[in-house]
Amino acid sequence: MGYTKVWADNEKLSKEEKLKLEKDGLDILNDIPQYAEEGFASIPKEDWPLFKWAGLYLQKPKEDGYFMMRVNVPSGILSHSQALILAGIAKDYGRDVIDITTRQAIQFHWLQIEDIPDIFRRLEEGGLSSVGACGDIMRTIVGNPLAGIDPNELINTQEIVQDVYDYFQHNRDFSNLPRKFKVSISSNLNNAQNAEINCLSFTPATKEIDGKAVHGFHVYVGGGLSAKPYLAQELDVFVRPDQVNEVTKVVTTIFRDHGYREKRHRARLKFLLADWGPEAFKEKMEEFISLPSKGTNRFETWNAGYFYGVHPQKQAGFNYIGLNIPVGRLYSDELIELARISKEYGNGEIRTCNSQNVVIPNIADDDVDRFLNEDILDRMNIAPKPFIGSSVSCTGIEYCNLALVETKERMRDIANYLDDHLTVDVPVRIHMVGCPNACGQRQIADIGLQGIKMKNKDKKLVEAFEIYVGGTLTQGAQFNEKLKGKIEAHELDGVLLKFIQYFTDEKQQGEDFHAF
Ligand code: SF4
Repeated sequence: MGYTKVWADNEKLSKEEKLKLEKDGLDILNDIPQYAEEGFASIPKEDWPLFKWAGLYLQKPKEDGYFMMRVNVPSGILSHSQALILAGIAKDYGRDVIDITTRQAIQFHWLQIEDIPDIFRRLEEGGLSSVGACGDIMRTIVGNPLAGIDPNELINTQEIVQDVYDYFQHNRDFSNLPRKFKVSISSNLNNAQNAEINCLSFTPATKEIDGKAVHGFHVYVGGGLSAKPYLAQELDVFVRPDQVNEVTKVVTTIFRDHGYREKRHRARLKFLLADWGPEAFKEKMEEFISLPSKGTNRFETWNAGYFYGVHPQKQAGFNYIGLNIPVGRLYSDELIELARISKEYGNGEIRTCNSQNVVIPNIADDDVDRFLNEDILDRMNIAPKPFIGSSVSCTGIEYCNLALVETKERMRDIANYLDDHLTVDVPVRIHMVGCPNACGQRQIADIGLQGIKMKNKDKKLVEAFEIYVGGTLTQGAQFNEKLKGKIEAHELDGVLLKFIQYFTDEKQQGEDFHAF
């Protein structure tokens, strides 16, 4: 152990903290081979929460012994062979289902403990891993899905993200954080990383140093969603690209040693930052590292991670093409087909986006028309209808133990219904979540739909939704606000139709939902 657990003597630690002191989350990796041999019944219940460190959650209902697995995809960049490995795992063990998450990761469902060693072996062969994708540890790092090909980036951040990921992933100095720790590192000028909702974000910046303009990063700390959302606050520092890993270490160390561990719901970095303020946080950082003050923030706008259509790359003569994956769900054969076209027309890469969509890069000008004639693009459209193209959904009750309502299929059905009945000249981003945890990031949506249970007029407990409006990360970022009332799930499509119809009738040409 390379450090002292400064909080270990605190008698008021939450029960989760006490468990982590007895057994480090990463220790579960040593136990999994034996559990796989002896079967699900051999796993003691107190070990169930530790599976998160291996990227595994028990899906609903827990007693049935099926796992959800989340696989890290740093910057969302998958090679051809990695995509085929993922498709093979879903086909052989996961009933074909593959979800793209709002952190560019990949999720499987229906896995059984007996299958996990072979799944780990396949992932490792492909240079992939699920370790740290869940649990009180650094989660999959969000990056620029266009890293290296992006005409709108200052720096190619692919290697920087990979270095930070490699440093932290199995690092036992940082495997017991107070809670999950979400990092984004991107140099995309359109804030594709959703910087303000991460615990720690490195964002594009330029600073004059010794008479030369140096491209690097600004640092935002303390963002996060869930029941009490906070926007990250900017620190007055400038970070060179070669300092990103060190600064990440410093911020993670402060979180590890000073983050709150008494009450689980107060354990995210956002609460520490809210109490300390950015100035005090920066002073604490200065005990570890000296950084110059801010330069110029280079964000130009916010694209929410959407890249639909054909776009020229940094490399002359090549294009990246953004495809819609409705609500982020695809099936093994579809991923195999995406891998085939990515190889036939590009360099085999598929890049996942935090909007739950994909980009296929490196397609030569001469190949674009043939690419656009591929049958798979009928389902994974490059110019999707506005509602299905701007819909995001969390996992929901189908697999998630915390969910109060069904989300994925419902969001897809509602989006298709709205596309059939409404015409809009601007996207209306609708995000659906099954509980206040907000994995579907409902707080930053134009329209956020949060599932609840309520009693209907017949006193029956039914699925329902709260509606929130006006979220954005454009300049003057703000979370959406709750409208009065609750809507029973079966009435949601009709209510949204009327509500958005009012918006389209009243708004001016080109005016978007937030400005309205
Ligand atoms: Fe589950 Fe809630 Fe996250 Fe949806 S938002 S996946 S229901 S925890």
